[in-house]
Formats: sequence, C-alpha cells, structure tokens
Amino acid sequence: MAQQHHLDFSTRAVHVGNEVDKETGAIRRPITMANSYALPYDPTDMNWSSADGNLYTRNGGANQKYLQEKLSSLEGGEDCVVLASGVAALSGLFFSLLQTGDHVIFSSVTYIAVYRLLNELFNNKFNVETTIVDTSDLEAVKAAIRPNTKLIHIETPGNPTLSISNIEEIAKIAHQNGALLSVDNTFASPYNQRPIELGADFVVESLTKYINGHGDAMGGAIIGKKEYLDIIRAQAQVNLGGTISPFNAWLIMRGAVTLPLRMQRHNDNALRIARWLEKQPEISFVAYPGLESNKGYEIAEKQMINGFGGVLSFGLKADHDTHNRFVQNLNIITSAVSLGHDESLIVFLGENDERQYLYPEEFHNGFFRFSVGIEDADDLIEDLRQALQYTGLQ
Ligand SMILES: *Cc1c(COP(=O)(O)O)cnc(C)c1O
Repeated sequence: MAQQHHLDFSTRAVHVGNEVDKETGAIRRPITMANSYALPYDPTDMNWSSADGNLYTRNGGANQKYLQEKLSSLEGGEDCVVLASGVAALSGLFFSLLQTGDHVIFSSVTYIAVYRLLNELFNNKFNVETTIVDTSDLEAVKAAIRPNTKLIHIETPGNPTLSISNIEEIAKIAHQNGALLSVDNTFASPYNQRPIELGADFVVESLTKYINGHGDAMGGAIIGKKEYLDIIRAQAQVNLGGTISPFNAWLIMRGAVTLPLRMQRHNDNALRIARWLEKQPEISFVAYPGLESNKGYEIAEKQMINGFGGVLSFGLKADHDTHNRFVQNLNIITSAVSLGHDESLIVFLGENDERQYLYPEEFHNGFFRFSVGIEDADDLIEDLRQALQYTGLQ
C-alpha cells in the first residue's frame, strides 16, 4: 500500500507497508533474512554503495523498506531511514549533516547520547561548535544563534524532565536563520505529535520504545525530505553500517500496527497516575505535560494532538536509600531502563547525575522516571500505594 495520506492514522498504522506476498499469497509479508539479493546479468556497472533497489542488506533490506514506508506515512514525511537503534539514527543524522566549523544548538534536556555525541564527541573530534540551551525558552534559542548555526536539535517532551519546547516557533527561528530543525519524537510518538507538520525538517525516533512497544527489538528512524534522506541513507547506513536486522524491522512493523491503541492507553493511564501522584503527601513533585500545573502544559496541549504520552517523572520527600526501598517494594512495576514498553518500567535517577545542573531544582535530590504501561491503571495505582506504605512513607 502506497502512502495513502487520505486515510486516517489508525488505518495507515495497520495497512501501510504491508502487501500480499506475491510468491505465497500470504497476507503478511515474510521476514527476509537474506544478506544478499540476486544480481542482474551484467553487474559490473553497478554502484556497490547504492541504497536503491535490493543488493546487499547493509544497503537496505526488504523488511526495512516496508517499515520505512509505514513510518514516513505516520510521521507525514517524504522519506525515512530505519537504522539499528535510536542512537544510530541520532548519530547518523548528526554525522551526515554536520561539518567541521558548523554550530549546533541542542536542548539542555535530551537523551544522554545526544549530550555525549554533540557536547563531547563531535565537539572534540570534529570541531563542531555546540551550545546547550533550555529550548523551552524561545528567547534563549534566538540568542544562541550564530552565523554558522546549521542545526537545532530539540527533544519534546525531553528525557527525563518532560520539559516541553515549542516546535512550530523553533522551526521558524531555525528557518529564518538558515538552519535546520530536528526533533526527537520518541516520548510522544507520531500518534501524539507530528513535528514535520509543525515545520520540523527531521524527526528522529527510537523505535525501541513506543513504536515497537513490546520491549523486544531495537531500532531507530530518521524521517524527513528525500533530498537529505538520500545523503543520510548513504552515509549513516551504507558507509557507517548502522543497518537494522530484518528480524527487528519485522518485529517493529508488527508492533507499530497497534501503536494508536497502545498510545491511547498509555496517555490515559499516565494522566490518571500523574493526577493521583500529585495528591500524595509523600511526593515532592510530579512532572507530566498533561498536568495543568506543568510549565509546558499550554504548548503541549496545542502541539500534542491526542495526549501527553506515557512517561512521567516524580520525586519522593525522602533520602537516597528510601527511593531504592520504594522500588524494591513495587510488585508490578519493574525496575529497568527503557520506556514505551507494554509493561510499566521505573528507574531511579540519583542525585549524582552529571547533567543535574541542567534540570529544574526539584530534580536535584534524585527522582524516578516512570514509563507507565498499558496494564490496568487501578492495579498500577495500588502497586504505588502499597509501596509507599511499606516503604514507611505512609
Ligand atoms: C531511548 C531513547 C533514544 C535512544 O534510542 P535507542 O533505541 O536506545 O538507541 C533516543 N531518544 C530518546 C528520547 C530515547 O528515550
């Protein structure tokens, strides 16, 4: 099925990228694990680095291409490259776009690898200039622009403080100054937020999280205009080699079918739990963009079309070890990194995080990042309640 933009989101989540298999008549496309594809009669004038057609799986495999069709459609972009992980997508985008002497502005709250890549690796190895900015503040974004600013990279909601940046306004600032805007859309997923429709040039996404949604495959995607995606495909995929395995592409394709259903449940559960947590006397703060008390609420309300996602952060009025004991007392919610899985996951981010100085003050004593799953909200609330009780907080 081609792009089919006239069809609604859930219909496209089910159908785009899937076709009847020509050989068997199966109504689901098979997993093609082959590394290599048959060559034409005379292969000698072929470009071995081409990502067009089927040649060698590092240059692009069948299952990867089906998934790319689906994700381009869901994000409303022209083209998509799917890679081995979200970080492969981030590093592939930066590597393909940036040259020595370019300047990049990026959100002070981002996935840790963005901070490492831009602030440490690209800066030290390639002399790419970087400025870390609180991109929830538009004046700060404007003030950070330099003549050589090539890229603004934002994450909204940002991991792990859930801070909200205004995509439409930052896209304008970028374009007025000859720069490009990339948005990490992992926390929202295209069900809740479509940055390209708001003017962003690129969406970057960890497919490991909501798009796959079942905690059993890693992947990443970059979505945007074909003119850039061709370059990214050649550099990040064929030459850096961050190709996704066909099996993972197939699993993620299968997971993506239920994205709208799962996101509805994540949105509902997280909002209910955020409201419940906010009322508990032992809780020091709750950060969730769907709470009216949240600093980013008004902008989130406008740019997050179906809900605020499944991740929230909160703190306890307690010392370090009490936070660990609280997690120990949870029975349903699992202590593990990652997010966007069907099951609820929680991680205690202690007070020694090197980026704490970039976060609002309430985060400085350590806090939990809680990825609310699609279990029954009542069971999750009961799990939190009894853990507060047995930890001696209630
Ligand atoms: C997890 C995550 C990534 C990295 O994705 P991987 O698939 O783990 O490489 C990037 N951005 C955000 C916001 C994430 O949460």
